[in-house]
Amino acid sequence: MNTKTKNPGKAFFTIDVERFSDTECIYKSEVPVKQTMLDGLDRYMEILNNHNIKATLFVLTDFADEIANGLKKHLANGHKIALHGERHIPPKLLSDNEFESQITRAKSKLEDMLGTRVIGYRAPCFGIDRQKLDILQKSGFLYDSSLMGFSKARHNTEIDMSDFKKISTSTFEKNGFFEFAMSTEKIFGFNFPVSGGGYVRISNWLFTRFMLKKHFIRSDDYVFYSHPFEFSKEKLPKIKTLKSYDKYYLQCGLSSYVKKLEFIIKQLQKNGYNFSTFEDEIQKSNGVIYK
Ligand SMILES: [Zn+2]
Repeated sequence: MNTKTKNPGKAFFTIDVERFSDTECIYKSEVPVKQTMLDGLDRYMEILNNHNIKATLFVLTDFADEIANGLKKHLANGHKIALHGERHIPPKLLSDNEFESQITRAKSKLEDMLGTRVIGYRAPCFGIDRQKLDILQKSGFLYDSSLMGFSKARHNTEIDMSDFKKISTSTFEKNGFFEFAMSTEKIFGFNFPVSGGGYVRISNWLFTRFMLKKHFIRSDDYVFYSHPFEFSKEKLPKIKTLKSYDKYYLQCGLSSYVKKLEFIIKQLQKNGYNFSTFEDEIQKSNGVIYK
């Protein structure tokens, strides 16, 4: 008789609060784009609010004052605010000193602006490395959510986590500092990302559905991430100079993404997952309330 039952899993919904022009291929193209497509943030939050799911918003501070009222409203509704950086530059491309001064400045700015403590970080383009992870911990952050265990990811860096304790499928802890990695599922020995963003939006849906279902049965945590433009009702601006792949990345699967998000939420509920936030889990583990 099989008596092994999995503990209820924990699901974390997140969004990287950035303008359309911060998307790496747009930023690099140097084509001026006025549309922010930030209406997608409201749409995503509305869907989560309808399901009573509390999200974590990773915010870029170089335009945060323009949306401060909206962020305060989400905070008042029980969502959490964390940092996505001062500007949308992968930390790997910054020196350690530059990184440290940028995150320190950005953390204080966000805290002063919103009157909340900021304890979490996600690297633009998931471009974190081990030194930067240690700098985050030293700079008063209690968690990071940038680890992407997918070798084909654009800014992938193999990070040695051997001194961290693995506390669930994708969560690691070291001296009170946590890493909530992006969710991946194994196929033929390879990790395939099932965490949302372009991966869930673009990949063949029959395959992705299969991988998600497999993951929800096996895993004890799940992290979903997204960007405002993916949920925007605005039409994407046409940028002729973009490479074909970048055009494909930006456009593919946008119209069905809400349905996919609803499918994921339904499957998580069916598999008995609890919806939580990184902060709440850290709070449960060390008993401190971050206000
Ligand atoms: Zn980003």
